[in-house]
Amino acid sequence: YKISMAEMQVESVLGRGQFGTVHRVFHRPTRVTMALKEIRLELNQRALQQIIMELDVLHKARSPYIVDFYGAFFIESCVYYCMEYMDYESLDRLYPAGMPEGVLGKVALAVVRGLMFLKAELNIIHRDVKPTNILVNRRGEVKLCDFGVSGELNQSLAKTHVGCQSYMAPERIVGTNGPEGYTVQSDVWSLGLTLIEAATGRYPYGTQAFTNIFDQLNAIVNGEPPSLSSEQYSQGACDFVARCLAKNVGDRPAYTDMLRHPWMLEMDACAVDMEDWAARAHALYLARKQAAANK
Ligand code: ADP
Repeated sequence: YKISMAEMQVESVLGRGQFGTVHRVFHRPTRVTMALKEIRLELNQRALQQIIMELDVLHKARSPYIVDFYGAFFIESCVYYCMEYMDYESLDRLYPAGMPEGVLGKVALAVVRGLMFLKAELNIIHRDVKPTNILVNRRGEVKLCDFGVSGELNQSLAKTHVGCQSYMAPERIVGTNGPEGYTVQSDVWSLGLTLIEAATGRYPYGTQAFTNIFDQLNAIVNGEPPSLSSEQYSQGACDFVARCLAKNVGDRPAYTDMLRHPWMLEMDACAVDMEDWAARAHALYLARKQAAANK
């Protein structure tokens, strides 16, 4: 079965990324609401075909921590990627002033399990762990999207990638391992930064007054890594995040070690009403959006 654009009814804009827009769509044949991501690329037919073929392995990728994939196709020079619609959208919209430790712990658990699944089942590295690539739904589920499944797609995105808020690990910025030397341990760094951002509500390298992006990258490569405040978070949480943010790649833990970390065990055992948190956080997000629209 091949999914196609003709079957989609476009409903609304969910967000705009660097390479195109994400729409909420209604897929008529299945009556399923989906998110349709457009990726605008300057590539020939053969390369586009290759991307669609490589994305196909995602049909096998079923995990509660990974956004479901429904299919992909291309039209002219755009790749269209159909995925599970996550109705509370990305994590960055849900923490204007941070989040409580229990919620942070459940988010960390979901991300580690999702990353571990990608590596173990598909042998892929995410490459772009950041708050906008962690999605939440009304059931309070937390799932990863936008991972680097297709080598062809990774290459074309990497060539044009410039972000002003970098979640890239120091070794990636410096390029010591070369473009192919990217390892799972670099995703662990990105997770560490993401957790600090989720805990504080702010991108950790954004508080200093950088004059340009090079200063910011320089701080990531040469400065002390940021840390979680021990006044607001437990020692376990602070230690977990500090391990993720080891400057030296080799010092960062593997996923199995991370899941055995005392904080992860504690967070796994504790009951947190994620559904309730998500509902409140999403309602606040809608209220802020409404207030901004009224201004
Ligand atoms: P980015 O480059 O910031 O990751 P994307 O183009 O991937 O941007 O996505 C833009 C925004 O669209 C995201 O920040 C998110 O809020 C929203 N979005 C993406 N995928 C989905 C989805 N499956 N369900 C709901 N919202 C989504």
